[in-house]
Amino acid sequence: MADPVIRTGHINLFAQSDVTCYIIRGAEGDLLVDTGFYMNRRALLQWLSVYSVKWIFLTHAHPDHDWNAAAVAQKTGAKILLHEADSTLIRNFKSQPVHPTADRWRLRNLTQNFGGALVKSPPYKPDILFGDADGGLLKQYGFDAEIVHLPGHTRGSSGILCGDVLYCGDAFTAIFGGPDITPHAADIPQMTASLRKILEIRPKWLACGHGFPVKLRDAEPVIRAYLQEHAHEI
Ligand SMILES: [Zn+2]
Repeated sequence: MADPVIRTGHINLFAQSDVTCYIIRGAEGDLLVDTGFYMNRRALLQWLSVYSVKWIFLTHAHPDHDWNAAAVAQKTGAKILLHEADSTLIRNFKSQPVHPTADRWRLRNLTQNFGGALVKSPPYKPDILFGDADGGLLKQYGFDAEIVHLPGHTRGSSGILCGDVLYCGDAFTAIFGGPDITPHAADIPQMTASLRKILEIRPKWLACGHGFPVKLRDAEPVIRAYLQEHAHEI
């Protein structure tokens, strides 16, 4: 397995095998955004040893994001946060639809559907299931940050807006080396509405669940082209 890329500074990130996790530093402890997949476990835990992780924020309950939630919680005592609309998605990939977001992803989507049903993250139970009224929840924990519901990729998909960065999970992606539309979604109209929401929020950076953070100015043309192309379906 390739060594992880670990950067600190403006955006604290851990990237390995197409998976990217982030740390948001807080006054009372740190928050981990997503936990990676099975192959990331060891390196992720090592990376986290220099932080004081008190909260684990899952952008959604897909296995490449929640696989290590149990391990990190066990090692750090951190509390796991997940949107309530994804609570039944845990270890149950097929409980929400998996539609390709564009024709070019139809074939890939077949393998996602097949593979997704086979993998199940180690069991965990979120300590906090937040809902749409809980946007300000992180302020209670010492973060100058806001939870933003970005449904579509999954029904509970959520991000965190902190400073000029929107940690957006799979609401948008950089998995292919540059800004792109995430290949599959539970609900495409919801996903496009979330893309519009991202443009309204106008963060400087999108810190995606895969690939390196991208600037909104580079993502915006990709988002606008997709919205235009799919306008008739929305
Ligand atoms: Zn996902």
